Amino acid sequence: MSAVQSACPPRPSQTKIVATIGPACCKENQLAELLAAGVDVFRLNTAHGDRREHEHTLAAIRSAAAKVGQPVAVLVDLAGPKIRLGELPGGQLTCDAGDRVRFVREQLTPREAVPGELCTTYRPLVDELAVGDRVMLADGTVGLVVEDRGEDYAQCRVVQPGLIRSRQGVNLPGVKLSAPAIGPIDKENAIWAAQNGVDFVGLSFVRTADEVRQLKSLLESHDSAAQVIAKIEKPEALNHLQEIIEAADAVMVARGDLGVEIDVARVAVVQKEIVAVCNCCRRPVIIATQMLDSMQHSRLPTRAEVTDVANAILDGADACMLSGETAIGKYPRQAVEMMHRIALATEPLCRERPPQPGPDLAAEGVNQITEATVYAAGRMAERLDAKLVVVATASGATALSLAKNRNFVPTVGVSDSEATLRRMCLYWGVIPLPGAPTGDSRALLQYIADWGKTAGLLAGGDRIVLIAGTGLAVTAHNMIVVHELE
Ligand code: PEP
Repeated sequence: MSAVQSACPPRPSQTKIVATIGPACCKENQLAELLAAGVDVFRLNTAHGDRREHEHTLAAIRSAAAKVGQPVAVLVDLAGPKIRLGELPGGQLTCDAGDRVRFVREQLTPREAVPGELCTTYRPLVDELAVGDRVMLADGTVGLVVEDRGEDYAQCRVVQPGLIRSRQGVNLPGVKLSAPAIGPIDKENAIWAAQNGVDFVGLSFVRTADEVRQLKSLLESHDSAAQVIAKIEKPEALNHLQEIIEAADAVMVARGDLGVEIDVARVAVVQKEIVAVCNCCRRPVIIATQMLDSMQHSRLPTRAEVTDVANAILDGADACMLSGETAIGKYPRQAVEMMHRIALATEPLCRERPPQPGPDLAAEGVNQITEATVYAAGRMAERLDAKLVVVATASGATALSLAKNRNFVPTVGVSDSEATLRRMCLYWGVIPLPGAPTGDSRALLQYIADWGKTAGLLAGGDRIVLIAGTGLAVTAHNMIVVHELE
């Protein structure tokens, strides 16, 4: 048995796992190992690396997926208007309480960095800061307050001391920035994602639903069906939560920056609120950042981290994300395996506390007949103790509908479209199965029976529920077939 096969999870978790790619896992064999351990979506973060590296990584993901023989979705995450520090003399600066530092404009002709002067990647910063504004550096570990403004500088006093390093993040909680959501570099990266058949594009620091729509039309104008994931990490986004979630195809609770932009003490309640709105609006929701953070350096997570992942699942999250754990950690595979184990241990409890779908039952692109059929199929499968629900879907919308209904019988999603199979990788409880004959119900059931027996998911006497269409209602799934295996 190969290393890849032996790492294969005995059964997939219903909660999907998103893994961020970085130097610790970017080679094809490492990616294959993570896939076999339970990764459903790989995240390529354009805030790091260059185009050549991203191209290399994308090719490695695709050949790893082919090697393991399962679909995997790719999420290209745009950096958005993330502000970073420029170079610091000596690479770092200790900020003691009461110290003064000055933001100055980036010098067009490089000159020797001056101690106590800070440049950033955002040129208009000194114009947009006002006396009294707060500035957080290095993931919120260092806090400044603006106390003086001149034509070319904004002077700040250190109120929360700590060490800052070159190129670390700058957050301005409550400051309204004029930076567009999709700057020139993001635009180039989005077009690259569109041209390379990427499945999801993440929009960082979303503030309005319009920004989501802008990215969607940019992708569409490049003939891409990539779905947009709105990353909620700004207080402005919380003020427009419902509209942003409705405009997006999926949502990420980006707790890293969110915990700097708002009071970190509120992150848990805000996370619950975002998940609840996503479930109401039927959008997949990913919980991100620091889920198993200590596994960057340790083979085992803390009890608090295990509880965090489990609570996210119990809240109704569709996916959990690993960042540094897989990108730069020492134990990427172990982190994926751990997340998978926590999901398996937690999911039985979800049955007792299913998230509440919204009053308007229809997911986007799903008509009422399909929605009712999907709902009934889920209940029938439970009543008949079926082992699988099978859904044939063109766009994946019917599978999403099942996922958001929290159909607890595992769902197999089949489609003629490879893009749809990959998209379903993000959908809770849906196993995308390539190669199935979708047009002929009898052949499809036989294919599923053979596959299920080989995968150890089905045995003689087991029942399968198939959701299909009679063809009488062209746009709807309006037929449920129950099949008992011989
Ligand atoms: C976050 O801030 O939590 C996040 C996911 O964004 P990124 O990792 O791109 O900074």
